[in-house]
Amino acid sequence: MHPPLALHAERLTKRYGRRTALADCDLSVPRGHVIGLVGPNGAGKSTLLQLACGLIAPTSGTLTVLGAPPAADAAHLARVGFVAQDTPVYASLTVAEHLRMGAWLNPSWDAALARRRIDEVGLDPAQKAGRLSGGQRAQLALALAAAKRPELLILDEPAAALDPLARREFMHGLAGFVRELGAGAVLSSHLLGDVAQVCDHLVVLCAARVQVAGPVTDLLATHHRAAAAPAGTEVVWAEPGRVVARGPAVRDGAPVTLEELVLAYLSRAAAHPAVTG
Ligand code: ADP
Repeated sequence: MHPPLALHAERLTKRYGRRTALADCDLSVPRGHVIGLVGPNGAGKSTLLQLACGLIAPTSGTLTVLGAPPAADAAHLARVGFVAQDTPVYASLTVAEHLRMGAWLNPSWDAALARRRIDEVGLDPAQKAGRLSGGQRAQLALALAAAKRPELLILDEPAAALDPLARREFMHGLAGFVRELGAGAVLSSHLLGDVAQVCDHLVVLCAARVQVAGPVTDLLATHHRAAAAPAGTEVVWAEPGRVVARGPAVRDGAPVTLEELVLAYLSRAAAHPAVTG
């Protein structure tokens, strides 16, 4: 039997009234990896992550998380940790009170891990959460989600509110922490630089569709930059004098950077809204 995937979507569609946030998305991402979900604002990232947490229901199509429907039951809920976009915390409670509440609400709470993490990132247990900086609040929200010892951590734009230095620090710390937890993670950002630091899998979402997805090493190995469209490759995006193509290595091809690759798919999506990768 195959181990269940972290996320598996088939023709997943979500509409809000007449607005389509996700259209016929097919996606399979393996467990135990750090998956970066990138795309511009409005691409559908939050919608996908909220579907994965069972906060909203699909209009059509299916989605499974760790092999079961999202938030299928209490046991399944405990296997997924979610850090929502605005890293919500209770302003009038202290850091220590958040940890006590976490312990009370979660049967699998790892109190030692929560305390150690709070200590490592320099949070004062007596500090009221309302007085924390954006970066500290994000760290508290992450510690609370992680102390559940989930198999999958879902983070929706965890660094969105942070300044560039704080976001770099947060993402750097996140990479080591997720490895140490032995959990998988899906994190979204509208900035490739954020997730590129951390992820080994990439999903590019744009205009409600998955444009391309796969292990970063495979994506980099199968995409090339060339002066013209080489035979036997699929052109992802072409502009005068420059082509990004997908396919086997070609003689006049040069490696692409992850940024060039993502930009090629985003440009294609913008120019041909109905195309999927
Ligand atoms: P992202 O997280 O990539 O910025 P979202 O998933 O938040 O994208 O949004 C995708 C699209 O769905 C956008 O056009 C957005 O305006 C729309 N949308 C998201 N949530 C709602 C909602 N609750 N009601 C109506 N439209 C929504």
